[in-house]
Amino acid sequence: MTTYDAIIIGGGHNGLVTAAYLARAGRKVLVLERREMLGGCAVTEELWPGFKVSTASYVNSLFRPEIIRDLELKRHGFQMLPRSPSSFTPFPDGRYLLMGPDKEMTHREISKFSRKDAEALPKYEAMLERVADFLEPTLVQTPPNPWSMKPGNLLALLKLGLAFRKLGTDGQKAIEILTGAANPILDRWFESEEVKATIATDAIIGAFATPSMPGTAYVLFHHVMGECDGVRGVWGYVKGGMGALSEAIASAAREKGAEIRTGASVARILTSNGTATGIALADGSEYRAMKVVSGVDARVTFLKLMDPRELPTEFADQVRHLDYASGSAKINLALSEVPDFSCLRGNAPGPQHRGTIHLCPTREYIERAFDCAKYGHISDSPIVEATIPSSLDDTVAPKGQYVMSMFTQYFPYKLAPDAGTLEENKKRYAERCIDIMTEYAPNFRRSVLNYQVLAPADIERVYGLTGGNIMQGTMSLSSLSFMRPVPGYADYRTPIRGLYLCGAATHPGGGVMGACGYNAAREILRDG
Ligand SMILES: Cc1cc2nc3c(=O)[nH]c(=O)nc-3n(C[C@H](O)[C@H](O)[C@H](O)COP(=O)(O)OP(=O)(O)OC[C@H]3O[C@@H](n4cnc5c(N)ncnc54)[C@H](O)[C@@H]3O)c2cc1C
Repeated sequence: MTTYDAIIIGGGHNGLVTAAYLARAGRKVLVLERREMLGGCAVTEELWPGFKVSTASYVNSLFRPEIIRDLELKRHGFQMLPRSPSSFTPFPDGRYLLMGPDKEMTHREISKFSRKDAEALPKYEAMLERVADFLEPTLVQTPPNPWSMKPGNLLALLKLGLAFRKLGTDGQKAIEILTGAANPILDRWFESEEVKATIATDAIIGAFATPSMPGTAYVLFHHVMGECDGVRGVWGYVKGGMGALSEAIASAAREKGAEIRTGASVARILTSNGTATGIALADGSEYRAMKVVSGVDARVTFLKLMDPRELPTEFADQVRHLDYASGSAKINLALSEVPDFSCLRGNAPGPQHRGTIHLCPTREYIERAFDCAKYGHISDSPIVEATIPSSLDDTVAPKGQYVMSMFTQYFPYKLAPDAGTLEENKKRYAERCIDIMTEYAPNFRRSVLNYQVLAPADIERVYGLTGGNIMQGTMSLSSLSFMRPVPGYADYRTPIRGLYLCGAATHPGGGVMGACGYNAAREILRDG
């Protein structure tokens, strides 16, 4: 039987990044992916003939530039299509707001609602950039362990402290961003509800929370941290869909010698005397390895693929208590024409179609949508963030037709006993989202050729994410940095020797960043 240097469980984009770096360092690597396709939540699926859909994640900005360079991903086919404008918000009163990244256009647009806010936005963005300058380098660093007295840890803590000191009075703002709610920050900077509501939707993506709740400021910030082809804060579509990024990483990994198998579901992590020795597949076959690296979330890795009795009790309990709350549902659609918005007419792709279309007029609308979900019911009026990648990418839909992603909230993972069946709720929810879009673009309903609904329970079933949590675990401060996935184990190692984590369950968390996989590879190679 072949013994591998490392077996990676899961061919999500992070697992593939780890595989590529390990293979590049000369390690014999095997990746085992349960589904028939690679990429995990960064996939392109041809749901209907000619319609190539990014069924889970749909826009990119966070993916680390150092990985693009190291793995020569552009040579392997990775290409970004930056979006401008980046967002379009139609309002019920017939007005609309286009934003970013074109600064003059954004200034003009915001001035329609408030001159003061138009002046404030560049200053607000500059403040976020200063905080990003402090936080961004930490994304590709292993978090220091504050409970360890090892010199390396103490030095890393000191460096972090010094970097924080450099922030000066922005330090207080950084702490508010890491711990606070989005609303007070938005209220301090802006006066127009239209501007605040448009920005606030970024504060709740993937969170089972509203912008008035602590922790949402970081979600807001997380979404401004990336870059697109070197330009900070710009989001774009991956040409060919998100799966094209995963395929490019896989191609780089294979070129370096990594072996990658799909349709290979890992049933068990094999251990002996507290050391990982390999894995067993669902079909009973076993593979041996010096190191086993899991790109799957912590709950599945430790409680489903292992007997938790093999773990220290306190560690197993911490994993049991991780927060996987989620209220996000994805609706993927095939369209015969683009939405022709009453407030900005056009039946060919225009500025209103290229970025994210926000259907969320006020922050109170978000609070009301959440009220339903917190008692186990789907929102009466969900928040819809729609994107039409085929407005920029002619490879993902038949000529003259379009794919649309609707990222929506809130659809609770656990429905109330009186809420009806999952399928009934999915149908009702999707029809309501289509109705909401039709209120702004009367041709929308007739343009829908087909749609797929992924409720949190589907996201769990299809992508293997506990609770349907899109980030492999909540991104609140108590689950970030040196506490991700649990305190004392943020260095990608686990209580089992030779068993590592490399997915979004680890620092710096969810999003198509590749940083978790990159950091994990560095730590694994450090161990020999
Ligand atoms: C609906 C949705 C929308 C999102 N939108 C965005 C977005 O637009 N932009 C963004 O940056 N981020 C977005 N995210 C978040 C982002 O996609 C994820 O955080 C990220 O892709 C996680 O990558 P990963 O490699 O760590 O894990 P995953 O992608 O979860 O990969 C884990 C892999 O392990 C496999 N697996 C599970 N169990 C087993 C097993 N037993 N054996 C073998 N393989 C197994 C899974 O099939 C999967 O391929 C979204 C996520 C979702 C779900």
